[in-house]
Amino acid sequence: MKNLNILIKPASSACNMVCRYCFYKDEAEKRETACYGMMSEEVMENIIKKALEYAQETCTFGFQGGEPTLAGLEFFQKFTDLVEKYNKNHLAVSYSLQTNGILIDNEWITFFADKKFLIGISLDGPKEIQDANRLDQNGKSTFNRVTRVIQGLLRSQVEVNVLTVLTRQSARHVEKIYSFLKKLGVRYQQYIPCLDPLGQPQGKEFYSLTPKLFAQAHKRLFDLWFSDLMRNDYVYIRQFENWVGILKGYPPEACTMYGRCTMQNVIEANGDVFPCDFYVLDKYKVGNIKEQSFQQLYEKLEENSFFQDADKRDIRCPDCRWYPICRGGCRRDCSVEKQQQHNYYCEAYQEIFSYVIERLEYLARR
Ligand code: SF4
Ligand code: SF4
Repeated sequence: MKNLNILIKPASSACNMVCRYCFYKDEAEKRETACYGMMSEEVMENIIKKALEYAQETCTFGFQGGEPTLAGLEFFQKFTDLVEKYNKNHLAVSYSLQTNGILIDNEWITFFADKKFLIGISLDGPKEIQDANRLDQNGKSTFNRVTRVIQGLLRSQVEVNVLTVLTRQSARHVEKIYSFLKKLGVRYQQYIPCLDPLGQPQGKEFYSLTPKLFAQAHKRLFDLWFSDLMRNDYVYIRQFENWVGILKGYPPEACTMYGRCTMQNVIEANGDVFPCDFYVLDKYKVGNIKEQSFQQLYEKLEENSFFQDADKRDIRCPDCRWYPICRGGCRRDCSVEKQQQHNYYCEAYQEIFSYVIERLEYLARR
């Protein structure tokens, strides 16, 4: 494989925060073993050796959790040392890490800057919005700690992407969130809808996002983003950039825009490999990196039941005028209603695309 992307969970589902909407906690509790503890050096070495053997041009190691920094800075120092040792084919290697930011201090920041990590930090917005759902284990606010870390990373020229979860509480305030993040100096922003518990009807939790709020938030965000762009005040918002890219003929970078689920190479702390972060469940386990090579894992994908429904999207998609740009969204947002597959956000997508299409086309022509 030319370009290999791997998503590693060094601390399994362990976390030092208790976000009310955590999708990974919900998923992990549906497995026989909710938390596999910390990743051993044996698993780490297997991942690195096998990934660098299998990739031909580029290899991206992404770290996620739970909270990946709980594995300790030494884990990551060892990891990057081993990559240097085993990268005999001189592949272009990059690193990314998604964190809540709580444990990051100057030593971590120096390391991230040195190894050119792209750091994704979760922050839902100004204090009252962050504190509505993202508290630490003692029920205390995390806002000041997280914003200080973001400022420290930016000062050290570490690339920072802030990930904001759209909930019933935050989606009404996207204008406030967008300008707050800009003021903080965050130019790379990503907004993702919070997930309802797996296998349960959507919209029932107190934090649940509704399609109406999803549409309103994206339309308002697009207005803000576009108007800044026209003033040469550039902010990167992943979703919008992808839409422009698709209209220009580039492949999207998010699997939710491919029209089918693809292998995301999620590796749990014990070495078990799964197809997607939203489905790290026992029944979808592909294999274990200690026992198989990536080649062997890929050969087994067709027999994995996750991929049997890989391109199952909304029943309306094949006739939809927005399909070329939407591609049916994420399968995790789909469920069966009256024996037909529906995407919870389908009507919201249609409303958003009708609202933004002229400006998207203009940007794609520029
Ligand atoms: S379920 Fe969603 S996130 Fe997972 S592979 Fe499919 S489209 Fe991607
Ligand atoms: S807007 Fe709805 S029907 Fe159209 S492509 Fe997207 S999910 Fe499918």
